[in-house]
Amino acid sequence: MRRRLLLGNWKMFKGPTDSRALAKALAEKFGAGSKPDTVVVFPPALSLSTVHEALGSTIALGAQNVHWEKEGAFTGENSAVHAADAGATYVLVGHSERRTYFGETDETANRRVKAVLAAGLTPVLCVGETLAERDANTTEDVVKRQMLGGLGGLDAQAAARLVIAYEPVWAIGTGRVATPEQAQAVHTYIRQQLRLAYGTLADNLSIVYGGSVKADNAASLMSQNDIDGALVGGASLDANVFFAIGQAF
Ligand code: PEP
Repeated sequence: MRRRLLLGNWKMFKGPTDSRALAKALAEKFGAGSKPDTVVVFPPALSLSTVHEALGSTIALGAQNVHWEKEGAFTGENSAVHAADAGATYVLVGHSERRTYFGETDETANRRVKAVLAAGLTPVLCVGETLAERDANTTEDVVKRQMLGGLGGLDAQAAARLVIAYEPVWAIGTGRVATPEQAQAVHTYIRQQLRLAYGTLADNLSIVYGGSVKADNAASLMSQNDIDGALVGGASLDANVFFAIGQAF
């Protein structure tokens, strides 16, 4: 079922104390006002439990990354099982900051996707091209490689549980948002590829856009046929701004 999703990636901001305050403010705002079908926030791992307690039931919780093993001698890592235990129901996989700074590959993204599904959570698989790749006219190749790599080995039943986030790297944290037409074109391409791989299931999958989404550009992005929501970074750190983005849906 295609849902309208508003996702907030807090990146490495907000320790437990600040996270609690933001989660409470969000719960109050979204609890009282209208909202997209699903709102999810992704605080840093150390703040997951605190945010879970503070959120109540209106807003769901997600982890920004997990290891593919359930447990083991992997110092500094967190598993999908542990994220679920802390209250998470969603996990970001393959965010471009993980690919750029922490060596995430399509292969490791695929392992994480499978671990997230096995733990009963929803993976949000992030794909997107760099500026150099866009300038070289390879956007579609890159997005296809990242998507099929991340989904490798998944049957239709498993794929049906995913959310895809198209996040052009040149638009993340830069203030330079893709135009609605640029984003729509890639979302259409992603849906076509999903249709080739999984048939009509593709029409039910949610594909969200991420990259400098703000309150004043959200409505025009959301008006596009194949854009089912937004993955918001910087603008999700302020309760008023994040709520305003949700109202623009
Ligand atoms: C992100 O972190 O996924 C993101 C889209 O960041 P920003 O909204 O700040 O560009």
